Amino acid sequence: MKKISLLGSTGSIGINTLDVVERYPESFQVCALTAGSNIELFAGQLRKFKPAIAALFDTTKIDALKELVRDLDVEIVSGQEGLVSVASFPDADLVVSGVVGSAGLLPALAALKAGKNLALANKETLVIAGELVLKEAECTNTRIIPIDSEHSAIFQALNGEKQERIKKIVLTASGGPFRTFSLQQMKNVTVKEALNHPNWDMGAKITIDSSTMMNKGLEYIEAKWLFGVDTEVEVIVHAQSIIHSMIEFVDTSIIAQLGIPDMRVPIAYALTYPDRFESNLPSLDLAKIGNLTFEAPDMERFPCLQLAMDAMAIGQTLPAVLNAANEVAVQAFLDELILYKDIAETIRMVMQNHRPVPLQDLKDVLDADLWAREETTKLITVAH
Ligand code: MG
Repeated sequence: MKKISLLGSTGSIGINTLDVVERYPESFQVCALTAGSNIELFAGQLRKFKPAIAALFDTTKIDALKELVRDLDVEIVSGQEGLVSVASFPDADLVVSGVVGSAGLLPALAALKAGKNLALANKETLVIAGELVLKEAECTNTRIIPIDSEHSAIFQALNGEKQERIKKIVLTASGGPFRTFSLQQMKNVTVKEALNHPNWDMGAKITIDSSTMMNKGLEYIEAKWLFGVDTEVEVIVHAQSIIHSMIEFVDTSIIAQLGIPDMRVPIAYALTYPDRFESNLPSLDLAKIGNLTFEAPDMERFPCLQLAMDAMAIGQTLPAVLNAANEVAVQAFLDELILYKDIAETIRMVMQNHRPVPLQDLKDVLDADLWAREETTKLITVAH
């Protein structure tokens, strides 16, 4: 029985993780859960999965949550500290992080510090502090198992081979809902259009990131940290999202991982690794799909991808700044404070105004993150 501590249980990754856990009741047990602020859904999950401890990030709703589950035998904690207690909960064999945004960093570090293997869906953790996170994993001899579908694909393709044998990683991208839009059309994109992803059903923030291809940019950085900072990573647009990514090895052989676009597949792999469990999800029907297409990404229409690559090339605190500026700009777009095209433009200005410093400890990351949030908010306010 593998005991699981799940961070971010009411989000898209969390809900899918609980779905996987429920399918294998003899193999997995949830011992700890955290959620952001959706207390109704969270209370239902606590009732169903009966964890020993639960943390709610939104401290203002803690009393209302306690009221909802007062008949249950569960310890309720709150805030960032609460998330950290759940992440380092002694009973857990594996910590799954599906937290959205940079709020996932401290709990991820806490899990590794406590000696827990980490199944990581929260890409921001590696984007903003890859160096520190890898150092922690090395110190405590713990493993990071990627859940992000592309990185799970690369992890599976690499299975058993030496990282030094990788010639390059080919990271596939769906291209999002605006893959065929002209530059002119992209200027007038609405929130509703941007929230309509062709292949994947995900949360709002990541769906916008997919539409701007910032999601692929963050995944590019994530891939560098997971599979070697000096490894070449090529991004290729593959509209069908059937090949989840590939590795070209030094002998030019390419190993790819294919599958239906369903997050329960990479989540189940992270939970069962190094084994695989039988699944009753539908098989991939390649004859029905017919064609797999590939094209180079257009950096002019998707400048966020280039910004992320530039941030990684310079490194230091710049990826953390890119990420924070993106989080604030995406929220401003969702709140209809800025136009779609201003997301990339705002991030570019914040990056230009930043002086990167080497990343020595957590404070450097948090300072850069805070500076970038304030700078982005200032630029958005001035523009109004
Ligand atoms: Mg992905």
